Amino acid sequence: KQEELLTKTNFDELSNLDKKHIIHPVAVPKVHASVGPKIIFSEGKGVYVKDVHNRSYIDGVSMLWNVNVGHGRKELADVAHEQMMKMAYSSTFYGYGNEPAIRLAEKIASITPGDLNTIFYTSGGSESNDTAFKLSRFYWEQKGFKNKRKIISLRRGYHGVTVSAQRATGIDAFRNFSGSSDPDILNAKAHLTECELGDKSHPEFSGCIRSIIESEGAEHVAAVILEPIQGAGGVHLPPEGYLKAVRKLCDEFNILLIADEVICGFGRTGELFGVNNWEVVPDLMSIAKGITSGYSHLGGVVMNNRVADVIKEYDDVLPHGFTYSGHPTACAVGLKNIEIIENERLVENAHQMGAELEKGFNYLNEKHEIFTNQRNVGLLAGFDLMKDPDHNIPFEQSKQAAVSVVDECYKRGLLIRCFDFEPGMNIIAVAPPLTITKQEIEKTISILDDALASFSQKL
Ligand code: PLP
Repeated sequence: KQEELLTKTNFDELSNLDKKHIIHPVAVPKVHASVGPKIIFSEGKGVYVKDVHNRSYIDGVSMLWNVNVGHGRKELADVAHEQMMKMAYSSTFYGYGNEPAIRLAEKIASITPGDLNTIFYTSGGSESNDTAFKLSRFYWEQKGFKNKRKIISLRRGYHGVTVSAQRATGIDAFRNFSGSSDPDILNAKAHLTECELGDKSHPEFSGCIRSIIESEGAEHVAAVILEPIQGAGGVHLPPEGYLKAVRKLCDEFNILLIADEVICGFGRTGELFGVNNWEVVPDLMSIAKGITSGYSHLGGVVMNNRVADVIKEYDDVLPHGFTYSGHPTACAVGLKNIEIIENERLVENAHQMGAELEKGFNYLNEKHEIFTNQRNVGLLAGFDLMKDPDHNIPFEQSKQAAVSVVDECYKRGLLIRCFDFEPGMNIIAVAPPLTITKQEIEKTISILDDALASFSQKL
């Protein structure tokens, strides 16, 4: 009956229902209420997705940077089916266990760096970050440092939309929407790439994090949170040596380091985790997205022995947890997903295809004057559009440069994403599934080439 229903439905009907009944995340409600959904997806295979009109697109950002193993993986559907038939859901509250959650925890402990050996499960990235903040404060409280409560984050860091995670997010519109003015969450004024600006002669320079710690007093600071590479803030890479310097700074001031690996984790950067690129081991690591490649919703905070040992000494009920913490079906999918990443050597592929993408960007850089500031680590990539890169002159806002290029790509069958939330900002991100081939990278570059040419011509 459902199939019948689907074949009878058409875009207009779905669109009208969508307009009537759904408020979409990160969309303009007024526009959506009149225009409706731009695309209604129907299926996906590999790096390709299709809409209800049967139009095909390369999924150039793995949807929300999460479909790491690509679309349409039967193995993941099979394992979900099998687990659902056995027991779709059981709780991990009150000390109840389930095999997929236990096996996945062991697997995560074995693949994360250092002694990150213990996990607290969540259902996504925002919950992971809120949990990481709570556990950091709880850790210090248990150690007798009740005043160590502040969390330091960076400008343009994106940490999610639960109240605290959104407050830690360094994008003004998001940060302000949190509805909280939580004075315990401090946002530094530099973003990751800018952090080197300052005293460059000092090899350990840690940008403004150090100055915040010094002005607040380390006795008030619980943790620093950062993405190893900032994603939704516009793909910003850390200056060389920066993450190590922040690690050292945290050690010096007795502050915990939280790495938000929600985008970087599970192979995206050509290493299993983003921090591995710089051989840094955080105290807590927030994970989500790539842990299941989006086939089920799952997240977690992985903590080192130092933190876990203190929590494990607590002699009362821990008043924290989500209904879907350790969801057996999601965990079974997570386990199989990691198996696919390992068996198909997708981390290595991300590294190699990242190099191909870089070559493509070099070509675009040669050819298009407006293309500039390309960067990538593995398959987490971005570039800027500027009116005159040589003189650092951005496009006028009215040109809507990034939006227009994204739209030109969409017309040609490539879905990518842009960021223009600050004046003069026109950043485009590219982050395809880790399964992408050389030919598919070439097609991606070729579409970008045409899209850039078409936009430039209209200027
Ligand atoms: N942290 C980072 C780095 C993210 O990119 C995101 C989402 O894009 C989040 C946290 C929030 O994750 P979720 O949307 O699963 O809550």
